[in-house]
Amino acid sequence: MSWRATALTLYPEMFPGPLGHSLAGRALADGAWKLDAVNIRNFATDRYRTVDDTPAGGGPGMVLKADVICAAIDAVADGRPVLAMTPRGTPLTQQRVRQLSTSPGAIFLCGRFEGFDERIFQRRAIEEVSIGDYVLSGGEVAALVVMDACVRLLPGVMGAASSGIEESHETGLLEHPHYTRPALWEGLAIPEALRSGDHARIARWRRTRSEEDTRLRRPDLWGHHGDGRILSPSGARREKKEE
Ligand code: SAH
Repeated sequence: MSWRATALTLYPEMFPGPLGHSLAGRALADGAWKLDAVNIRNFATDRYRTVDDTPAGGGPGMVLKADVICAAIDAVADGRPVLAMTPRGTPLTQQRVRQLSTSPGAIFLCGRFEGFDERIFQRRAIEEVSIGDYVLSGGEVAALVVMDACVRLLPGVMGAASSGIEESHETGLLEHPHYTRPALWEGLAIPEALRSGDHARIARWRRTRSEEDTRLRRPDLWGHHGDGRILSPSGARREKKEE
């Protein structure tokens, strides 16, 4: 059974969009995952096919109607998690992505305008997901982000690379930086450790850079990363400097 994504959206033509290309696109063509985009407007009940209405209490914009949204959810619900894309949701993590990629798939509810009538979250089991602390114009791009993160983890989609538990965020650390030929470019050499052929030394260099970069760039992640550090919190190296 392949991983199945269903997007509930007012713009079904936005799917698969970028996920129709490259590795995700090939995996889609090969049937490693499936994607349906269902138009929320199909579940409108009036002759104008209305999906939104003005906000209670006044103010700008429009709000997606609870009755229409829940009719759309109910039509596709089959036990897969229902994820509503919203900046008010729980920020997406690689850990949640990994869980989702091992589930049978997910239903992605894409908002527009001011978002959803809040009552849908009281009446249906819906997980509110944010892809970051900024505001998009619609949930479709957010849904594509979540789908992309899940699909690349599906067996066979990325080959060896996807098993890479060293990837940024998989270990709670940022991944070490990468280099490739030429060995000297615009006066910059590839770090000597990486050219040494000494696997233990290369591993040590990567580990140290991963820790150092996490500590400097993402103190929030570093604060949560407890065991197995080469660097102490102050950044002082316990091991001999590698370069
Ligand atoms: N008025 C809302 C924002 C609506 S933006 C608020 O301030 O909370 C319109 C739609 O874009 C949302 O319904 C949601 O589906 C999507 N969206 C915007 N930013 C997002 C984010 N950071 N993560 C996930 N979805 C987002």
